[in-house]
Formats: sequence, C-alpha cells, structure tokens
Amino acid sequence: MSGGVVTRFAPSPTGRLHEGHAFSALTAFEAARAAGGRFLLRIEDIDRTRCRPEFEAAVYEDLAWLGLSWETPVRRQSEHLDDYANALERLRAQGLLYRCFRTRKELAQAAQSAPHGPETPFQGGPLPPQEEAERLDAGQPFAWRLSLERARDALGPAYHGLTYLDLDRGEQRARPERAGDVVLARKDVGVAYHLACVVDDALQGITHVIRGEDLAGAVDVQRLLQALLGLPTPAYRHHPLRLGPDGKRLAKRAGSPALADLRAAGVSPQALRARLGL
Ligand code: GLU
Repeated sequence: MSGGVVTRFAPSPTGRLHEGHAFSALTAFEAARAAGGRFLLRIEDIDRTRCRPEFEAAVYEDLAWLGLSWETPVRRQSEHLDDYANALERLRAQGLLYRCFRTRKELAQAAQSAPHGPETPFQGGPLPPQEEAERLDAGQPFAWRLSLERARDALGPAYHGLTYLDLDRGEQRARPERAGDVVLARKDVGVAYHLACVVDDALQGITHVIRGEDLAGAVDVQRLLQALLGLPTPAYRHHPLRLGPDGKRLAKRAGSPALADLRAAGVSPQALRARLGL
C-alpha cells in the first residue's frame, strides 16, 4: 500500500469491544501507519435502540488503551442521517427501490417456502399497486429495498463488470445476486448498514476497507451501491476472525472477554498485541 492511504475502524457501540475488534482496529491502524496514511474512526450508531453512549465512550477508552490515535471529529452516523436520506432519494428517483411492508414473521415464512430453501436471498419485489396503496393508507410501516432486477437493468453490461481489489486475493467480481433485494432503509431508523457504510466510506475518502471476514459478503452489495451512486470503490481486506481457545470463532457479542476485562485482569496492550500476532 502506498501514500494517500486512508483506513478506518467502524464499530457499532452496541456492546464492549473484544479481541476481534482490537485485531480489526489495530490491523487498519497499522496499514495506514505503514503507508504514511491516515486512520479514521467512525461510530456506526444508526440503531438508536441498540447503541448506547456508554459503549461509545468505552470505544474511545479501549482504543486509546490499545495505543491507537485517530482524527477528530469522529464521524457519528446518527449525526448525518440527511446524507443517507439524500443517497436513498437518488436511488428512489432512479426507480431502483420498492417499499417492503413485510414483517419479520412474513419474511421468515417466505424464506421457508422459497423454492431453493430458506437460504435463498429475498427478492420479493413490490406489492401490487392496489395493495400497496391500501397498506399506505392504513399507515403500515415499510422498509425500502433495492430491486436487484432494476439495478441490473439500470447498469446494463456494467453489472458484470462490478469488480474490486481484494488485497489478499486480487481482483474479484462482486455478486450482488448472493444478497438479493437488500433493505437500504429500515422501517424503524430510515437507513440501513450498507447504505450508510458506502456513503461514509466515500465521504471520508476511505481507500482501504479492512474488517473481519464476517463482513466479506457485504462487498457484493456495497460494490453495487457504489456503481449506482457513482461513488469510488476502495480496496478491501477481510481478515480471518479470531478463534477462541476451543478453536471456535469469537462471537462478536458473546463469549469472548471484553478488552476492559483483559485490562482489569492486568493484560498489557503489548501482551494483547503479541497474543493477536501483531
Ligand atoms: N459497524 C460494523 C460492525 O461493527 C462494521 C462495518 C464495517 O466495517 O463495514 O460490525
């Protein structure tokens, strides 16, 4: 990686950071430092019901303890909902979105009866106009989904040229069909992860997205959104997830010790880095 490199760590403050987060943050930080580039922090807090101020405060505390520094002001997604609404509107104006009124239960039922099994990506399409009008009149909440079919039509042959650089595996082709019609605006918060992520990666000038391989599939959707919104495509690295002593993945939310617990147990940041192989 060369100069002009900008990396980021983008946690959601829904709990304490653990070793897996430390690995991601340190890897992104070191990549920027090695290239003489910049490291940014982004707080992905669009979900106001799950994010809490004390977890955000803990993010800063834990990262500082790890020895990281980042530019301020930190971008907090909850303060930029207009940016995501504008991007959503651009896609809507291109006729690429449709309203989805389905409840979780209805989606689970649809998945169960999908011809290729419950893993089939959702591609239900819009409701018939009459039914949609009735549901709107009744004030039913809805999400906005991206229509893969319309996105494919809009891009034409360019759809098959949706490539990106994977820093470990070279040039890859994104396959949005693996994700189906994703929700870009949730019923409750009016935006969803993929949309906020691509808008912010572009606005923050991120050149290298470095994150865990649990998010590897996100590129399929994010690359498509970049093409539809005319945004640049960063290079990507999806590092393997940390394994616990039992060889199982450290779950993000359960099981693995929080950095604060390690700190309280007297583990030093240097010892943690060594343990993470960094
Ligand atoms: N906020 C996401 C998470 O904590 C990370 C998103 C990303 O790195 O693209 O899992």
